[in-house]
Amino acid sequence: MRPLVADIDLDALRHNYQLACRCAPQSRTVAVIKADGYGHGALACAKALESQAPAFAVACIEEALTLREGGITQPVILLEGIFSADELPLVDTHGFWITVHSQWQVDALLAASPKKPIPVWLKVDSGMHRLGFAIDEAAAIWRQLSAAPSVASLHLMSHFASADSLDDGYFKQQMTRLQGLASELSAPLCLANSPATLAWPVAHGDWNRPGIMLYGSDPLEEANDITQQLQPVMTLRSAIIALRELEEGEPVGYSGRWRAPRRSRIAVVACGYGDGYDRHARDGTPVLVNGQRCAIAGKVSMDMLTVDVTDVPDVAIGSEVVLWGRASNGEVLSVDEVARYCDTISYTLLTGVLPRAPRRYYGRFA
Ligand SMILES: *Cc1c(COP(=O)(O)O)cnc(C)c1O
Repeated sequence: MRPLVADIDLDALRHNYQLACRCAPQSRTVAVIKADGYGHGALACAKALESQAPAFAVACIEEALTLREGGITQPVILLEGIFSADELPLVDTHGFWITVHSQWQVDALLAASPKKPIPVWLKVDSGMHRLGFAIDEAAAIWRQLSAAPSVASLHLMSHFASADSLDDGYFKQQMTRLQGLASELSAPLCLANSPATLAWPVAHGDWNRPGIMLYGSDPLEEANDITQQLQPVMTLRSAIIALRELEEGEPVGYSGRWRAPRRSRIAVVACGYGDGYDRHARDGTPVLVNGQRCAIAGKVSMDMLTVDVTDVPDVAIGSEVVLWGRASNGEVLSVDEVARYCDTISYTLLTGVLPRAPRRYYGRFA
């Protein structure tokens, strides 16, 4: 069998969720498991967190239904709400909560007569300029929804554009706008994503919505006490399938991007962009071979990539290769570091791992 596998450590997921809760003891913490649990498998993640998380967040009703069909009974919030009015009966049947960000969604809700009133998070645009009502129109919509028989509890929700940044000017501007509106309406709040959960207690609300930190990635520009305790959940693991010796000056891979600066030993690894590994990985991108840091040498191919293992003792066909995560000897290579070498972020690497890399679950809740 091809040795590539995405190992998912569900104990690490629970540990990271607990860290998010510990950051904000006055808030309830929604576990964000959209995009198939950031590539980790939404249902497995929900099952692992079922006894701890009071609610889950996903992007759309399809993702929410997957959780219900898998036996998850908690509230599930649709972060982008409904995409058409005919989803409302399903929302009602399954007890989903919805975000409302646009006038047509308000109209659909006001026209509906669900068997049970629907909990709503009213989304306001405090500066992200993506989804939500303008701050100065939000109060009127809030009052309209408060009076509607189809609406149960109401929360005020917003999203930050740059809570991860050390330059906090824009975050504070968004926060000021929100505080004004929240005090006018005495609204319970749901604002904080992972960076705000970790770094901005002022943004902690009735609910917080961390995502990426649950998977062990540090979203902050500069690590803090808590982010240093995050544990990687996914280990993308494979093995060496071939080894060769090259003379100084010989090239490796497509277009010969990498050339041996000395006599070199090159390992071929069963993992490529056809598995979701980023083809933008530069020469020098770290990988762990037998738990020791090595560097990618040459362009990533569809099914394989090549690593300079000249300085690793005892490499052989079958030696363990960790693309990110935790090696058997305990050594960790963070997905954040790999992402920097690919000019991207951990989110794209994790959500990008394709089904060709089978997920294998372990931990107490696997
Ligand atoms: C994805 C998402 C989150 C979680 O963001 P992270 O950066 O992964 O913590 C929170 N809120 C909304 C609206 C989202 O779309």
